[in-house]
This record gives sequence, structure tokens and C-alpha cells, in this order.
Amino acid sequence: MTDTQAPARSDRPLMAAYDTALLDLDGVVYAGADAIEHAVDSLATARAEGMRLAYVTNNASRPPRVVAEHLTELGIPAESEDVINSAQAAARLIAEKVPAGAKVLVVGGAGLVEALAEHGLVAVRSLADGPAAVVQGFDQSVGWAELAEASYAVASGLPWVASNTDLSIPTARGVAPGNGTLVAAVRAATGAEPEVAGKPLPPMHRETVLRTGAKRPLVVGDRLDTDIEGAYNGGVDSLLVFTGVATPAELLAAPAKHRPSYLAADLRGLLEAHPAVERLSDGAFGCRGQRAEVVDGELRLTGPDGEGDRYDGLRALCAAAWTALDRDGRPVDGRKALAELGF
Ligand SMILES: [Mg+2]
Repeated sequence: MTDTQAPARSDRPLMAAYDTALLDLDGVVYAGADAIEHAVDSLATARAEGMRLAYVTNNASRPPRVVAEHLTELGIPAESEDVINSAQAAARLIAEKVPAGAKVLVVGGAGLVEALAEHGLVAVRSLADGPAAVVQGFDQSVGWAELAEASYAVASGLPWVASNTDLSIPTARGVAPGNGTLVAAVRAATGAEPEVAGKPLPPMHRETVLRTGAKRPLVVGDRLDTDIEGAYNGGVDSLLVFTGVATPAELLAAPAKHRPSYLAADLRGLLEAHPAVERLSDGAFGCRGQRAEVVDGELRLTGPDGEGDRYDGLRALCAAAWTALDRDGRPVDGRKALAELGF
């Protein structure tokens, strides 16, 4: 895949142009217990039009069956095999390192225990049980005693795999320590480095493609540093939605590996064709009548006069900002232009 300097064009709706959507969950499909606006209807339409839907999450704490039940309750029918989590990618990495039937020290929850069992590996909770490796994933039950057990085992020289290294997780009360923060405690105590399975790293993408058999997948996510970078590393196209973590300002400053192929307000973006962004003869960038250029080191919207909406304006701004960033090595100020679009 070549590095992109503008959002891509798709003449067909994305649900027709790609065979499988690899959807991130938190911030894309749901936020905590509740579905995100337009998610249920958009996914129902995409599925009815023949798009396969798979859900790909770095969260290793809940087994796929539990996640599928949650989705189904929200009105998004899903089976266990439609859900791929970083625990499964971590278990496959471990299975490649240890003898068949080996014991594995688990620091984490039921998601990891089930994923290991799928490979015939036996979860244990103490170094005294003779594990051949250590696997660490997020669970609310992980405390000092579990981190100490992991540290003893890692310091003894056992292979150490982390399901993911997301530093924080969103909760109803705010931002809380994620698996990356708990991994950092063991890293600090031992000086060792884990092998990591989750997005944006290749083991997670490999697990997803193995389990879905996708031929032409589209990654759909809300984070630039996990979802979009994972798609970039896997060489597949991606759709960024603004219902979670990423903001338009962050997107304008994104390096090549954090640039999605497409962008949309929410999952309705799956149902639509996506317009071209064109370089105009005066050097500005245009998208359905919205024009953007860099003037005096600042992004400007110049003469919006077409039928384009504010997301077309953002597409044009992305092209101008990314081109300038690649040329000059530093981001341009887009605050005024984004405010004009109402972002
Ligand atoms: Mg997310």
C-alpha cells in the first residue's frame, strides 16, 4: 500500500466494495453498555446487502460468546465466531512457543483462559504450577498478587506475551488503567519486554484474517494508533468514524501510518460511496465544492460553494494538511478551518 496524501474515493458504497467489515467495538459499535447512534441500523443494512460483519477487539477480558450476546441484545445479531479478540491472537502466539498441552500462567480473565483452551493449553495461576509461558491481558480482577506472580515467572526467563498494550480504557466514570499500564508494572519490575499480540501489531490482523477468511476486508475503527495503524500494517483499507477517540484535529496532524482510507461521522459511512478529493489547478484541494489550501502556514477553507457537507470539507482539509506535513515535516494549524466547519 502506498502512503496516502488524501482520503480515497469509492464509487460504490463501502458495503458493496468490500466483502468483510472488521469492526472495532468500543467507540464504533457501542460505548460501554449502549449502542452508538446509527450503529444498529447501519450494520443491519450492510449485512442485508451481503457484507460480512466481524468484530475485532483488543479487549481480552470477555470471551467472544459474551461479546456476541451483548451485541445481540443491542439488536446486532452476532455469533461467537463473529468476534475476534486479542486473547485469541495471544493464545496462538503462545501455542507456537510451547509444547502441546503445556501449562500457561494467566494474568487476566476468562477470555484468556478460553482462548488458551482452544489450543489445548492449560491455564494456571502460580509459578509453582510449572507453566511454560506467561500471558497477560486486561481483567478488572488483576491486582498486586497477580502482577507479582507474573513478575516472578517473567524474571525466571519464561516467554511473556501481552494481549495488547493499550494504556487506558474508557469506563463510565472516566479513563482507567488499561492492560498496557499493568504490563508496564511487570516490565518495570523485571526489565523484560513482552511480545504483543493486539492491534496495531500483525498477530491480531493475522488472527482476524484466519478466522474470517476475508478476501477484501475493510477495517473500521475510532483510534488512529490501534485500528488505523493496524490496517496500515496489514496493508488493507480502513474507515475512521468520529464516534470514539479520534478527533478531526488529530486526523489533520496524522502521519502516514495513521491515515485512514475513508472517513465518516459514524457507521452510516459504510452505506455510502465516498467522493474523490482532487488537486485543483491553483494548488488547492477540492471535494464536492469544498476547497482547502495552506495559506501562511495555516489551513484555510476557500470558497465553499458546492453541495459538499462538512465531512467533504474535512476530506479537502486532510489532503491539504497531509501534503503539507509530508513536505515540511510539521503539522499545519487547522483550528480555524475546523471551527468554520463546526468541528
Ligand atoms: Mg475503539
